[in-house]
Amino acid sequence: MFILFGTRDRAVETDNGQFHCPNCNVKKEYGKKYVQDWFTLFFIPIFPISGKKNDHIECKECQSIYHLDVIDYKPALNDEEMESEYQKALKNILCLMILADKKVEDEEINIVSDIYNKLTNNKKFTKNQIEKNLASVKKSTKNVKEYLKEIKPYLNAGHRELVVKAMYYVASSDGHLDANESKLLIKTATVLDMTPAHVKGVLTELDQSKIN
Ligand SMILES: [Zn+2]
Repeated sequence: MFILFGTRDRAVETDNGQFHCPNCNVKKEYGKKYVQDWFTLFFIPIFPISGKKNDHIECKECQSIYHLDVIDYKPALNDEEMESEYQKALKNILCLMILADKKVEDEEINIVSDIYNKLTNNKKFTKNQIEKNLASVKKSTKNVKEYLKEIKPYLNAGHRELVVKAMYYVASSDGHLDANESKLLIKTATVLDMTPAHVKGVLTELDQSKIN
């Protein structure tokens, strides 16, 4: 008698649930699976001949296969959410800059209020709100990278330049940049993937035009 044997990949589901499928772009069912090679006899899997490998997530709708991280994937923010994330991030990093030289000056608060207003089409960031925001930034252990994390992917080159310019204004409001202020300025630019040459260009342009 003729015996037909071979091997075959089998995907085994170990878990399932709902996720935002990047391909379907809506909530769908997923299966969490691993792959294993099986020995087959007449095409029927008899026993596994490899370890469990290639853990992955498969969309039950479109069959797209993803890395396990896809479970944490969040759909793109809509305009309104983006706007509010941007404003939140801006408030926090401007406050970080106020605190960079360890002293809070009225001049800095006025400049932050003014710059925020300009960068957000007339949204208010009052002295009172700034003082509250300063207190929460002081308490928090978040750094500029963490404050910009959510919004960063949505910032275009123009936005990024504006953010760096705004940080520079606040830092130099008392007439000079101290070491911590420069450090924070460079860190901000680095987080935004701007090269030192780019930053230098932006700031040179700023010094020449003495912004209005
Ligand atoms: Zn899908």
